[in-house]
Amino acid sequence: MSAALPWLEDASRNTAAALRAGRLPHALLIQGSRGSGAEAFAFWCAGLALCESGMASDATAPCGVCRGCRGVAARAHPDLVILGPSEDSREVRIEQVRELSADIALTSHRGGYKVGIITPADRLNRFAANALLKTLEEPPQRSLPSRVPATGRSRCQGLRIPSPPRAAALAWLRSEQPDRDWDRLLTVTEMAPLDALDADGAAVLALWEDTALSLERARRGQLDVVETAERWSRADYGHRLAAIENWLTDRLRAAVAPPTVHLSPGDNTSNIRAMFEILDAIHEARRLVESPLNRSLILERLLWQLTSARAGGGNA
Ligand SMILES: [Zn+2]
Repeated sequence: MSAALPWLEDASRNTAAALRAGRLPHALLIQGSRGSGAEAFAFWCAGLALCESGMASDATAPCGVCRGCRGVAARAHPDLVILGPSEDSREVRIEQVRELSADIALTSHRGGYKVGIITPADRLNRFAANALLKTLEEPPQRSLPSRVPATGRSRCQGLRIPSPPRAAALAWLRSEQPDRDWDRLLTVTEMAPLDALDADGAAVLALWEDTALSLERARRGQLDVVETAERWSRADYGHRLAAIENWLTDRLRAAVAPPTVHLSPGDNTSNIRAMFEILDAIHEARRLVESPLNRSLILERLLWQLTSARAGGGNA
């Protein structure tokens, strides 16, 4: 059996039952937070549709070993079309959607379903999304496109992937690779287990520690802001923003905690307000993480904000 991720058992069981009953919608919009397994679930569904084992009436998963399942696992099944953003534009473009639609409309190679996966679907540009809508309005027989944009939601069935509870995420990661410090790594990657599994753990943790040290120095006015921003902008930008947010959130949590808990001397009210403003700026930067903005400039601004929050806020 090709088991689904443990926190997706309900979604898997329901989807398998729908397929057996012949009432699986021809399009599924699979939504989940980053790293929660939404994309993995899309491929799991593709396996379900393309499994050739003649699934038993009580089967709840694709067999995992037949020609169809192996093709999906290798991302090389003739009836599976996978669309992602093009390298140069970071968008899914209309030509790609047209190719997918044309391919899906052809007779299936193996006599079963044809499946298209678009991931991440929020990268469909406006024109591509409109072209996809046309495909969804006139679906060919036995096709099962998955993950479509907001504008297409009324034409397909939504499926929300839950974020895994921490204990379930830890258990799954330990079963995948027992000898890594998943507890710490999950904290850094904000409980996104699939991101944690993909990450180079040691490098991520080193980046996390380097970020914390540098930000402490920024707060003391001892950081070369321009040099640091330039260096940080060159690699691991997304991880770096996450680490900055993580550090700042910890500081805020300590600062607003009841006085019995340690209160940092510099964290008075105006300082806390300034830190919340920085937190907003980080959220905005993370939202735009894929856009072609000047990363060095964004980081520089964040670091200056941190430095001046300290200077304007406290007397310690
Ligand atoms: Zn199979």
